[in-house]
Amino acid sequence: MLALHCGADRQVSLKDLPQPRPGPGEALIRVTLAGICGTDLQILRGYHDFKGVMGHEFVGVVAGPPSSSWLGKRVVGEINVSCGDCDLCRSGLPRHCRTRRVIGIRDRDGAFAPYLTLPEANLLAVPPQVEDEAAVFTEPLAAALAAVDAVPLSRNSPVLVIGDGRLGLLISWALALSDTRVHLVGHHAEHLSLAQPYGVATFLEQDLPPGDYAAVVEASAAAPGLDLALARVRPKGTVIMKSTYVQPYPLDSANLVVPEVRLIGSRCGPMGPALRLLARGLINHRALIDRTFSLSQGVEALEWAQRPGVLKVLLDCRD
Ligand SMILES: [Zn+2]
Ligand SMILES: [Zn+2]
Repeated sequence: MLALHCGADRQVSLKDLPQPRPGPGEALIRVTLAGICGTDLQILRGYHDFKGVMGHEFVGVVAGPPSSSWLGKRVVGEINVSCGDCDLCRSGLPRHCRTRRVIGIRDRDGAFAPYLTLPEANLLAVPPQVEDEAAVFTEPLAAALAAVDAVPLSRNSPVLVIGDGRLGLLISWALALSDTRVHLVGHHAEHLSLAQPYGVATFLEQDLPPGDYAAVVEASAAAPGLDLALARVRPKGTVIMKSTYVQPYPLDSANLVVPEVRLIGSRCGPMGPALRLLARGLINHRALIDRTFSLSQGVEALEWAQRPGVLKVLLDCRD
């Protein structure tokens, strides 16, 4: 099969690889659609030093083994593959497993391929009313819900979300759907307008009114976003960080110590609640899709996804 592979020198190419074989307890999944995420673009710049088949956002159909009770089911999957046995797994933190592998990110082949394997325990069935183009957003929406969970409960004062890209929009929508007042700040008027139907107040950065926030979510994928978050968080407030930066961030500890600010990291989130939100038709996923490429155009698709202002780029893996 031809899969989008990241090599030792971060060179991405379509590589002819053997179809993966599911191990014990695993399923073989025929990938339908996959999504390109900011993390994939960071891998190209050296994040995690990943080598292998890229991609972690997908929807597909279980194609094996023949004995699987999942056979023929349309599925999405939890991307962290954990051991189930270490101290962290046993204490209910499988996404932080000591020996975890993450499809397309860390030590395990991913979804930019016609086929991938995952433990059956990682699979979630996609309800019939959720079309493939929606289901492929389950993983990024789950990551957005993790940010929502990290926001301290204070429903009367607005939360500031920084970044009007894919993740910032999903976070601001999810916050608004949980009855939180949201201010979204970004650089693209056409992206900001996608949040307004959810009741989100939106601002271009130069128009953000003065004032501070008890909670700020940084989802801009660029270090100036954290500068803005630390400048706008209220004393005793919380900054939730969704973005990883390839370059180290020069943190002045006084920015945390003096105002007694909490800085919280947030990564993956709950897939089931994300899927339920999609099933209720509450997420305007179509507005997030910039373009769909065939897997054979995968290299071009990754280049396209790096253009400024591009929202979600999908790969059709059925060719
Ligand atoms: Zn992602
Ligand atoms: Zn473990």
